[in-house]
Amino acid sequence: MPVDILALAAHRDDVEQTCGGTLLKMAERGYRTGILDLTQGEMGTRGTAEDRAREAAEAASILKVAWRQALDIPDGRVENTWENRLKIVRVLRERRPRVLILPYWEGRHPDHYTASVLGYEAAFLAGLAKLAVSRQPSAISRQEIDAAVVGEDADATLPHRPFKIIYASLYRDVRPTFVVDITKQFETRFQALMAYKSQFTDQQAGSNIFPAQKEIRARVESIARFYGMQAGVTYAEPFVQKEMGLVDDLLAIPVKSI
Ligand SMILES: [Zn+2]
Repeated sequence: MPVDILALAAHRDDVEQTCGGTLLKMAERGYRTGILDLTQGEMGTRGTAEDRAREAAEAASILKVAWRQALDIPDGRVENTWENRLKIVRVLRERRPRVLILPYWEGRHPDHYTASVLGYEAAFLAGLAKLAVSRQPSAISRQEIDAAVVGEDADATLPHRPFKIIYASLYRDVRPTFVVDITKQFETRFQALMAYKSQFTDQQAGSNIFPAQKEIRARVESIARFYGMQAGVTYAEPFVQKEMGLVDDLLAIPVKSI
Protein backbone atom coordinates (compact mmCIF):
# COMPACT_ATOMS: atom_id res chain seq x y z
CA MET A 1 0.00 0.00 0.00
CA PRO A 2 1.40 3.43 -0.91
CA VAL A 3 1.71 6.31 1.56
CA ASP A 4 1.20 10.05 0.97
CA ILE A 5 3.96 11.15 3.33
CA LEU A 6 7.08 9.21 4.33
CA ALA A 7 9.40 10.34 7.14
CA LEU A 8 12.91 8.86 6.99
CA ALA A 9 15.31 8.99 9.95
CA ALA A 10 18.45 7.29 11.21
CA HIS A 11 17.12 5.96 14.51
CA ARG A 12 13.85 4.77 15.96
CA ASP A 13 12.50 7.71 18.00
CA ASP A 14 14.10 10.42 15.78
CA VAL A 15 10.82 10.92 13.90
CA GLU A 16 8.87 11.08 17.17
CA GLN A 17 11.21 13.82 18.36
CA THR A 18 11.41 15.91 15.18
CA CYS A 19 8.15 15.56 13.20
CA GLY A 20 5.82 13.17 15.06
CA GLY A 21 3.19 15.86 15.66
CA THR A 22 3.13 16.74 11.97
CA LEU A 23 2.71 13.08 10.94
CA LEU A 24 -0.17 12.71 13.39
CA LYS A 25 -1.82 15.89 12.11
CA MET A 26 -1.56 14.68 8.52
CA ALA A 27 -2.99 11.25 9.48
CA GLU A 28 -5.90 13.04 11.16
CA ARG A 29 -6.49 14.87 7.86
CA GLY A 30 -6.86 11.50 6.16
CA TYR A 31 -3.44 11.14 4.57
CA ARG A 32 -1.55 7.86 4.78
CA THR A 33 1.75 8.34 6.59
CA GLY A 34 4.81 6.11 6.94
CA ILE A 35 8.12 5.98 8.80
CA LEU A 36 11.35 4.45 7.53
CA ASP A 37 13.99 3.99 10.25
CA LEU A 38 17.37 3.23 8.71
CA THR A 39 18.78 1.38 11.74
CA GLN A 40 17.40 -0.90 14.43
CA GLY A 41 19.03 0.76 17.44
CA GLU A 42 21.36 -2.04 18.50
CA MET A 43 24.08 0.39 19.66
CA GLY A 44 21.86 2.27 22.12
CA THR A 45 23.12 2.50 25.72
CA ARG A 46 19.69 1.47 26.96
CA GLY A 47 17.55 -1.48 25.82
CA THR A 48 17.98 -3.94 22.94
CA ALA A 49 16.99 -3.71 19.26
CA GLU A 50 13.99 -5.96 20.10
CA ASP A 51 12.83 -3.57 22.85
CA ARG A 52 13.06 -0.69 20.42
CA ALA A 53 11.17 -2.59 17.69
CA ARG A 54 8.27 -3.14 20.08
CA GLU A 55 8.36 0.45 21.27
CA ALA A 56 8.56 1.79 17.70
CA ALA A 57 5.45 -0.18 16.73
CA GLU A 58 3.58 1.22 19.73
CA ALA A 59 4.70 4.79 18.96
CA ALA A 60 3.60 4.34 15.33
CA SER A 61 0.12 3.28 16.38
CA ILE A 62 -0.15 6.27 18.75
CA LEU A 63 0.77 8.55 15.82
CA LYS A 64 -1.73 6.75 13.52
CA VAL A 65 1.09 5.84 11.14
CA ALA A 66 -0.07 3.42 8.42
CA TRP A 67 3.30 1.83 7.67
CA ARG A 68 6.65 1.58 9.48
CA GLN A 69 9.81 -0.38 8.76
CA ALA A 70 13.40 -0.44 10.01
CA LEU A 71 16.19 -1.27 7.57
CA ASP A 72 19.24 -3.29 8.61
CA ILE A 73 21.85 -0.52 8.24
CA PRO A 74 24.22 -0.75 11.24
CA ASP A 75 23.45 1.70 14.07
CA GLY A 76 26.26 4.23 14.43
CA ARG A 77 27.47 3.37 10.93
CA VAL A 78 24.99 4.94 8.55
CA GLU A 79 27.05 5.35 5.38
CA ASN A 80 26.13 6.82 2.02
CA THR A 81 26.90 3.71 -0.02
CA TRP A 82 25.36 2.41 -3.23
CA GLU A 83 23.98 -0.59 -1.38
CA ASN A 84 22.26 1.59 1.25
CA ARG A 85 20.86 3.90 -1.44
CA LEU A 86 19.32 0.90 -3.20
CA LYS A 87 17.66 -0.25 0.04
CA ILE A 88 15.95 3.13 0.28
CA VAL A 89 15.14 3.25 -3.46
CA ARG A 90 13.21 0.01 -3.03
CA VAL A 91 11.14 1.48 -0.19
CA LEU A 92 10.46 4.73 -2.07
CA ARG A 93 9.27 2.82 -5.14
CA GLU A 94 7.07 0.50 -3.10
CA ARG A 95 5.56 3.18 -0.84
CA ARG A 96 5.51 5.96 -3.49
CA PRO A 97 5.26 8.98 -1.16
CA ARG A 98 4.40 12.40 -2.61
CA VAL A 99 6.14 14.09 0.33
CA LEU A 100 9.42 12.85 1.81
CA ILE A 101 10.58 14.19 5.20
CA LEU A 102 14.35 13.89 5.69
CA PRO A 103 16.55 14.85 8.67
CA TYR A 104 18.25 18.25 8.37
CA TRP A 105 21.62 17.97 6.56
CA GLU A 106 23.83 19.24 9.39
CA GLY A 107 23.99 17.92 12.92
CA ARG A 108 26.02 16.56 15.80
CA HIS A 109 25.36 12.86 15.15
CA PRO A 110 26.98 11.59 11.92
CA ASP A 111 24.08 9.14 11.39
CA HIS A 112 21.65 12.08 11.23
CA TYR A 113 23.39 14.18 8.60
CA THR A 114 24.43 11.12 6.61
CA ALA A 115 20.81 9.91 6.59
CA SER A 116 19.85 13.26 5.08
CA VAL A 117 22.20 13.01 2.09
CA LEU A 118 21.59 9.29 1.70
CA GLY A 119 17.82 9.88 1.62
CA TYR A 120 18.15 12.69 -0.92
CA GLU A 121 20.36 10.68 -3.28
CA ALA A 122 18.08 7.64 -2.99
CA ALA A 123 15.08 9.85 -3.85
CA PHE A 124 16.89 10.97 -7.01
CA LEU A 125 17.89 7.43 -8.00
CA ALA A 126 14.36 6.14 -7.34
CA GLY A 127 13.13 8.17 -10.31
CA LEU A 128 15.58 6.79 -12.83
CA ALA A 129 13.63 4.62 -15.27
CA LYS A 130 16.64 2.53 -16.21
CA LEU A 131 17.64 1.68 -12.65
CA ALA A 132 16.12 -1.74 -12.01
CA VAL A 133 15.76 -2.75 -8.38
CA SER A 134 14.02 -5.96 -7.41
CA ARG A 135 11.30 -6.04 -4.78
CA GLN A 136 12.71 -8.37 -2.18
CA PRO A 137 15.30 -6.93 0.23
CA SER A 138 17.06 -10.31 0.29
CA ALA A 139 17.25 -10.27 -3.49
CA ILE A 140 19.77 -7.47 -3.92
CA SER A 141 22.10 -9.13 -6.38
CA ARG A 142 25.82 -8.61 -6.63
CA GLN A 143 25.13 -7.18 -10.08
CA GLU A 144 22.82 -4.53 -8.63
CA ILE A 145 25.33 -3.53 -6.03
CA ASP A 146 28.16 -3.26 -8.53
CA ALA A 147 26.28 -1.27 -11.15
CA ALA A 148 22.83 -0.14 -12.20
CA VAL A 149 21.06 -2.93 -13.97
CA VAL A 150 19.49 -1.96 -17.26
CA GLY A 151 16.93 -4.30 -18.68
CA GLU A 152 13.61 -6.01 -18.33
CA ASP A 153 13.15 -7.37 -14.84
CA ALA A 154 9.57 -8.55 -14.34
CA ASP A 155 9.99 -8.24 -10.58
CA ALA A 156 11.51 -4.76 -10.68
CA THR A 157 9.85 -1.87 -8.91
CA LEU A 158 8.49 1.02 -11.02
CA PRO A 159 10.38 4.33 -10.85
CA HIS A 160 9.04 6.95 -8.46
CA ARG A 161 10.39 10.26 -7.20
CA PRO A 162 8.75 12.17 -4.33
CA PHE A 163 7.30 15.52 -5.49
CA LYS A 164 8.42 17.35 -2.36
CA ILE A 165 11.33 16.92 0.03
CA ILE A 166 11.29 18.82 3.32
CA TYR A 167 13.84 18.66 6.13
CA ALA A 168 12.89 18.24 9.81
CA SER A 169 15.27 20.70 11.49
CA LEU A 170 14.39 20.44 15.19
CA TYR A 171 17.76 18.90 16.18
CA ARG A 172 19.63 21.85 14.67
CA ASP A 173 19.56 25.53 15.56
CA VAL A 174 18.67 26.89 12.12
CA ARG A 175 15.87 29.20 11.03
CA PRO A 176 13.05 27.06 9.63
CA THR A 177 11.37 27.94 6.33
CA PHE A 178 8.02 27.13 7.94
CA VAL A 179 6.57 25.48 11.02
CA VAL A 180 3.57 23.18 11.40
CA ASP A 181 1.09 23.99 14.16
CA ILE A 182 0.91 20.88 16.37
CA THR A 183 -0.94 22.47 19.30
CA LYS A 184 -3.73 19.84 19.13
CA GLN A 185 -1.28 16.97 18.58
CA PHE A 186 1.35 17.89 21.15
CA GLU A 187 0.20 15.66 24.04
CA THR A 188 -0.27 12.60 21.83
CA ARG A 189 3.09 13.19 20.19
CA PHE A 190 4.68 13.32 23.65
CA GLN A 191 3.00 10.01 24.54
CA ALA A 192 4.46 8.49 21.36
CA LEU A 193 7.92 9.52 22.52
CA MET A 194 7.28 8.07 25.96
CA ALA A 195 6.39 4.75 24.33
CA TYR A 196 10.18 4.29 24.16
CA LYS A 197 10.21 3.13 27.75
CA SER A 198 13.65 1.55 27.43
CA GLN A 199 15.03 5.00 26.56
CA PHE A 200 13.04 7.45 28.61
CA THR A 201 12.04 5.87 31.91
CA ASP A 202 14.27 6.89 34.80
CA GLN A 203 16.89 4.17 35.34
CA GLN A 204 20.49 3.67 36.30
CA ALA A 205 21.99 2.69 32.91
CA GLY A 206 23.12 5.78 31.08
CA SER A 207 21.84 8.13 33.81
CA ASN A 208 24.91 10.29 33.23
CA ILE A 209 23.93 10.95 29.58
CA PHE A 210 20.11 10.67 29.65
CA PRO A 211 18.09 13.43 31.31
CA ALA A 212 15.39 12.47 33.84
CA GLN A 213 11.85 12.08 32.47
CA LYS A 214 10.49 15.35 33.80
CA GLU A 215 13.46 17.17 32.33
CA ILE A 216 12.66 15.58 28.93
CA ARG A 217 9.09 16.84 29.18
CA ALA A 218 10.36 20.35 29.95
CA ARG A 219 12.77 20.31 27.00
CA VAL A 220 10.31 18.92 24.46
CA GLU A 221 7.71 21.43 25.58
CA SER A 222 10.00 24.46 25.47
CA ILE A 223 11.28 23.67 21.98
CA ALA A 224 7.74 23.17 20.64
CA ARG A 225 6.67 26.41 22.36
CA PHE A 226 9.66 28.29 20.97
CA TYR A 227 8.71 27.45 17.38
CA GLY A 228 5.00 27.85 18.09
CA MET A 229 5.46 31.30 19.58
CA GLN A 230 7.17 32.60 16.46
CA ALA A 231 4.16 31.64 14.34
CA GLY A 232 1.54 32.80 16.82
CA VAL A 233 0.43 29.32 17.95
CA THR A 234 1.17 27.32 21.11
CA TYR A 235 3.23 24.37 19.82
CA ALA A 236 4.91 23.83 16.44
CA GLU A 237 7.51 21.70 14.63
CA PRO A 238 10.15 23.33 12.35
CA PHE A 239 11.00 22.42 8.74
CA VAL A 240 13.36 23.69 6.05
CA GLN A 241 12.69 23.52 2.32
CA LYS A 242 15.34 24.29 -0.27
CA GLU A 243 12.97 25.58 -2.96
CA MET A 244 11.50 29.05 -3.23
CA GLY A 245 8.14 29.49 -1.51
CA LEU A 246 5.21 30.16 -3.87
CA VAL A 247 2.20 32.32 -2.97
CA ASP A 248 -1.04 32.52 -4.93
CA ASP A 249 -3.26 34.71 -2.72
CA LEU A 250 -1.68 37.45 -0.60
CA LEU A 251 -4.74 37.60 1.63
CA ALA A 252 -4.37 33.97 2.63
CA ILE A 253 -0.79 34.22 4.00
CA PRO A 254 -0.87 33.16 7.67
CA VAL A 255 1.07 34.59 10.68
CA LYS A 256 0.65 38.21 11.77
CA SER A 257 3.48 40.65 11.04
CA ILE A 258 2.86 43.43 13.60
ZN1 LIG B 1 18.96 9.77 16.23
